[in-house]
Amino acid sequence: MLAAIVLALIAGLAIGSFLNVVIYRVPRGESVVSPRSRCPHCGHEITAIENVPVFSWLALRGRCRSCKEPISWRYPAIELLTGVLYAGVVAVRFDDGAQIALGLILATALVPITFIDLEFKRIPNVITYPTAVALIVAGCILDLHGEPERLLAAAIVVAPFLLLTLVLSRSMGMGDVKLMGVLGLGLGRALAPGLFFAFISGTLVGVGLMLRFGMRARKTAVPFGPFLAAGGVFAFCFGASLWDSYVDTFHH
Ligand SMILES: [Zn+2]
Repeated sequence: MLAAIVLALIAGLAIGSFLNVVIYRVPRGESVVSPRSRCPHCGHEITAIENVPVFSWLALRGRCRSCKEPISWRYPAIELLTGVLYAGVVAVRFDDGAQIALGLILATALVPITFIDLEFKRIPNVITYPTAVALIVAGCILDLHGEPERLLAAAIVVAPFLLLTLVLSRSMGMGDVKLMGVLGLGLGRALAPGLFFAFISGTLVGVGLMLRFGMRARKTAVPFGPFLAAGGVFAFCFGASLWDSYVDTFHH
């Protein structure tokens, strides 16, 4: 088990390095495949040895090897976060290959969604759509038994918001609605406690910011995507058992 977790950590660090490229380039409409990454200050092309997740940043003391301009700590932080999430998925669902696959797909999508939404206040379709397809395909191949539950969860959560958005024309970002659908496709019934977590934490932070900064905080609207992502992680760990014990309580 430990070997699997370490392997997942290393894979997550490498994927996190790619997600840094996604986070920078996707909102700017650039290709994530080419060209190779360059230093934004001097244009120095990042070589393979300078691109080892986390370690290169530490070895270079957070500076470009060519011009010595600082490289944001966000790059190693995102690599580390992805590594920890990957290792966590394997650790939490150690005995369930299908759940691991779905969890890794979700983690791969939630990291860039969180950081793009924080910076650009939007959730790109080029991330949510392929993630939805990947979750449906993985579910069909690995866990057909649980697939109807996840499809139903996605439909139940998207339908009312879709209606609400159509009726009120702008109640909520459509990116948030699509992300909730994606979470449903990955989490099934575990989504309900996850959404509860997201709405509660989002409201608390929103109220906290208003108390701290007054009504001014309302203008600098806090994006909801990161709270949904956190809710997704919460749901992956605790959602199914919370839902089951909730349903149990009402049966007896
Ligand atoms: Zn440079």
